[in-house]
Amino acid sequence: MGVCEKPICEKPSVGVSHDLHCHSDQSDGILSPEALVSRAKAQGVTVLALTDHDCTTGLKRARQQARIESLDLISGVEFSSQWRGHGIHIVGLNFDPDHPGLQAAVAKQAQKREQRAAVIAERLQARGAEISVAEVRQYAKDGAIGRPHFGQCLVDKGYVKNLNQAFKKYLGAGKPGDVKQHWPEIDEVVSWIKSARGHAVLAHPAKYKMTWTKLCAMVSDFVSAGGEAVEVVSGYQTPNVTRDMARLAQKYGLFASCGSDFHGPDQQWQELGRFSPLPDGLEPIWSIW
Ligand code: AMP
Ligand code: MN
Ligand code: MN
Ligand code: MN
Repeated sequence: MGVCEKPICEKPSVGVSHDLHCHSDQSDGILSPEALVSRAKAQGVTVLALTDHDCTTGLKRARQQARIESLDLISGVEFSSQWRGHGIHIVGLNFDPDHPGLQAAVAKQAQKREQRAAVIAERLQARGAEISVAEVRQYAKDGAIGRPHFGQCLVDKGYVKNLNQAFKKYLGAGKPGDVKQHWPEIDEVVSWIKSARGHAVLAHPAKYKMTWTKLCAMVSDFVSAGGEAVEVVSGYQTPNVTRDMARLAQKYGLFASCGSDFHGPDQQWQELGRFSPLPDGLEPIWSIW
């Protein structure tokens, strides 16, 4: 599965050793967990966290490959949540992947994804796009079903030209397929991660397109819930965004994280290990591991 969020900035960047956000074909990425680890190694990454959407099925396979490639694999997951009606992504890092509470949470999220898929299909049908969950399931295979799978199906059935159009017309923020009500509040998600002895990281804060005031209100709630870090660098981004995210980390005393949000080799602006290094003066999340 591929995604094609627009690059914020296409400037190429030097390789970074820690990439703590990426996706495999266990959610909406293209590569298998093994191929993903091999690619990360080839890109010069030495510490990698696989963070599939609401699922941890790729971690064991990624860890086996990481052993072969002599790369450090950190347990990761990107949970879907909501805050005041906004869809918010929270990355969990370095947790115990076998923790029963965490596994129960992942199972719950999987169920929610299935229920949500049925609602998305209904809404698209009401909009004239004849698409069934069974069809979309073929794109997600056994993995976590999500909007990019619906998007690819819309493309292949000729309803839109490309994935970007699919999000613009049907699936993006405020469109009929943007179904968020299934997701838990951010404090519940943070508690799952912490109970499994992991660290909760607010993913790509700039992508929520909130005003600074609203973003601060959200981060404040995230911190109250026990959130510990913020992704200061997410893929290629402009220096302005990096500066603002660093300010956010400093204002709330949060650790800094960084990652490509890689989904597949077709998206050159989200390549593994290719993003700006964390600015000086921040405490990287890995300093406490
Ligand atoms: P879901 O997990 O089902 O809510 O789908 C969200 C995923 O869709 C994100 O993680 C991205 O990979 C992808 N996505 C979000 N916005 C866009 C966009 N405008 N174009 C393409 N893919 C997108
Ligand atoms: Mn994704
Ligand atoms: Mn995300
Ligand atoms: Mn992601």
